[in-house]
Amino acid sequence: MQFETVIGLEVHAQLLTSSKMFCRCSTDYINSPPNSHVCPVCLGMPGVLPTINRQAVEYTIMTALALNCEIPSSTKFDRKNYPYPDLMKGYQISQYDMPLSRNGWLEIDNNGEKKRIGITRVHLEEDVAKLLHQTDLSGESYSLMDVNRAGVPLMEMVSEPNMSSPEEARLYLTNLHSILRYLGVSTANMEDGSFRCDANISLRSGEKSFPKVEVKNMNSFKAVYSALKYEQERQQKVIEEGAHLVQETRGWVEEEGITVSQRSKEYAHDYRYFPEPDLPPLTVESPWVEEIRAQIPELPNAKRQRFQSEYGLSAYDADLLTSSREFADYFESCIKFTAAEQLSNGRAKAVANWMLGEFLRMLNVQGMRIAESRVTPQQLTDMMDMIDHGALSVTLAKQVFEEMFNTGETAKEVVDEKGLTQITGEDEIGPIIDQVIQDNPKAVGDIKQGKSKALKFLTGQVMKQTKGRAKPDLVNKLLEEKVQ
Ligand code: ZN
Ligand code: MN
Repeated sequence: MQFETVIGLEVHAQLLTSSKMFCRCSTDYINSPPNSHVCPVCLGMPGVLPTINRQAVEYTIMTALALNCEIPSSTKFDRKNYPYPDLMKGYQISQYDMPLSRNGWLEIDNNGEKKRIGITRVHLEEDVAKLLHQTDLSGESYSLMDVNRAGVPLMEMVSEPNMSSPEEARLYLTNLHSILRYLGVSTANMEDGSFRCDANISLRSGEKSFPKVEVKNMNSFKAVYSALKYEQERQQKVIEEGAHLVQETRGWVEEEGITVSQRSKEYAHDYRYFPEPDLPPLTVESPWVEEIRAQIPELPNAKRQRFQSEYGLSAYDADLLTSSREFADYFESCIKFTAAEQLSNGRAKAVANWMLGEFLRMLNVQGMRIAESRVTPQQLTDMMDMIDHGALSVTLAKQVFEEMFNTGETAKEVVDEKGLTQITGEDEIGPIIDQVIQDNPKAVGDIKQGKSKALKFLTGQVMKQTKGRAKPDLVNKLLEEKVQ
């Protein structure tokens, strides 16, 4: 049997508002003691009244617009009822049949093959409390509850089941993730649960569709990919063995690399949705939508294409540079400090090389973001100017840059302090070359026989003697003259 894979993703992202969805409590719960940001509303006390957080609505509309969704003029909130200890009221305020937005799409690029993934809806709801499962010394287990997270605005983005491989799902997710970060509507940190993904996956063979499985508990892009890959194979095996595949929810167990059955899948009617009686229906008028649309920054896809056309960068470089907004902004700040003439001499590519090479390597070693680095765009640009003017060789510049990175000093300060200027004078370099020639008679013989490799070797020796301070083309020229 030939199988096709059908995948749809549901992503929940916490919104970066300062207060919660329906009360004034602070959303900054991660660095706060448990249960310190709570009030009668988010504790779910009877008789209290929620109010709608305007910023959360605007962030949701902004995201929906970035995902090419329609924004209906009327929307409302609904109660989604289910009993669970982390759900303070016994229901979650969510949106059912009149979400803030619907019918959008997101384009993914799978090795040059572009595909639009439909977005069913982007709606707004509230997060639940956090349960912490503990075991005491006697082996007795119990659970603690932190209500700080309850009521934090949560945006849910539901895709159409348009993805046909785990790879497409991964691409959709990384694209969505970077859009949220570009918009600045969510930290979208997967590790702390600000960005969570549930996946629906099923197989199809010709006209026949097999039951759908929902996979939960995936805490990284890699986990989503691996869980889908695992499910794809598991479902196919069950079908081929003639066993019965059931519609259910399964959890990904990272340590074992498998999914396990959690419960049978709920249906919408299990939640007994009904309109939230404590909140008025919301009217979203088009001037408001346009005001929000005007605040949308250039998005990753557009930026990636512009970096290629405007700066002549490769798709690969443009992709890496636009992976985050601050990285892209840093690049463009460097360009701002660069003269037009330098730009036509390949400076943009050189900036990209520095950023994606030495700079990124050091950031990764330190686990730092580029915005946290002490090297400013002006400083990086000045250092590159010194290379262009011959004051620094590329080898030297690497040492200088490392020092700049560690101390926050300018290239000029580092060079002056450490005496790292390039040796460009023949009188200073001549004696060193003579010495190297004297020490390496075999290489000299090889050069005389026309072996260019030997010349490279000798140049290397001179660079070593001068700790990289000699000007390579000058060394080359002098060596050629002297060896004749
Ligand atoms: Zn509260
Ligand atoms: Mn939800």
